Amino acid sequence: MSKPTLRICYLYPDLLNLYGDRGNILCMRRRLEWRGLAAEITEAPAGSKANFADCDLIFIGGGQDFEQEVLLSDLKAGKGGELKAAIQDGKTVLAICGGYQMLGAYYQTWDGLRCDFIGAVDFYTVGSKERMIGNFAFECLPESGGSTVVGFENHSGKTYLGPGVSPLGRVLAGGGNNGEDGFEGVRYRNVFGTYSHGPILPKNPQLCDFILQTALGERYPELTLQPLDDAAETAAHDAMAKRLLG
Ligand code: GLN
Repeated sequence: MSKPTLRICYLYPDLLNLYGDRGNILCMRRRLEWRGLAAEITEAPAGSKANFADCDLIFIGGGQDFEQEVLLSDLKAGKGGELKAAIQDGKTVLAICGGYQMLGAYYQTWDGLRCDFIGAVDFYTVGSKERMIGNFAFECLPESGGSTVVGFENHSGKTYLGPGVSPLGRVLAGGGNNGEDGFEGVRYRNVFGTYSHGPILPKNPQLCDFILQTALGERYPELTLQPLDDAAETAAHDAMAKRLLG
């Protein structure tokens, strides 16, 4: 019998890969391999045909306003509707910053350009002249595992969640969604949206495993991820948490 395999689709690797966001995919793959499991990775760049139905986890990285604008036509040509359907279908999605903003209704830049996005999740984003930049930390809500996450944010967009969705967590240090309401990211069905680059997963193994378990659970309901020796990861996490939170 072949080993349990997580099928990951990296959407727009050509356009959305700020601050080494791709490292999240490498991290997921290694954490699966260390447990004798496997990952199969496909890429869906702009202009290609995506096959979300055949994957377990869709990864979307961050990008600048420019890249976000470039991919609008590709979203409209089909991928936007397909991604929305995949989300409704319960696919697991990890989306970072510009990729996170893309799942909402729209992003209006601080100088008035409006990008209409896919509206798969109830939120919108408005640009501000002042960017939120720097290392930051947040605590995931219990429904997303409850771990403390350290990461790096750099965005002009301020995101406001609608009534039907929850944040991923509460900000402990830094800006998060908008620097106003104390929330960070979004959690809707099996979607995890966050402003955290870093890349986020290597330094936050608990969140990584929570997302892997969510995605694997859809295909292999009996499979429970075994704990790993996370001494190095935890040391990196704690060093940054100490710097930010004392
Ligand atoms: N362009 C978006 C913003 O500045 C996203 C930036 C990013 O992905 N880092 O809000």
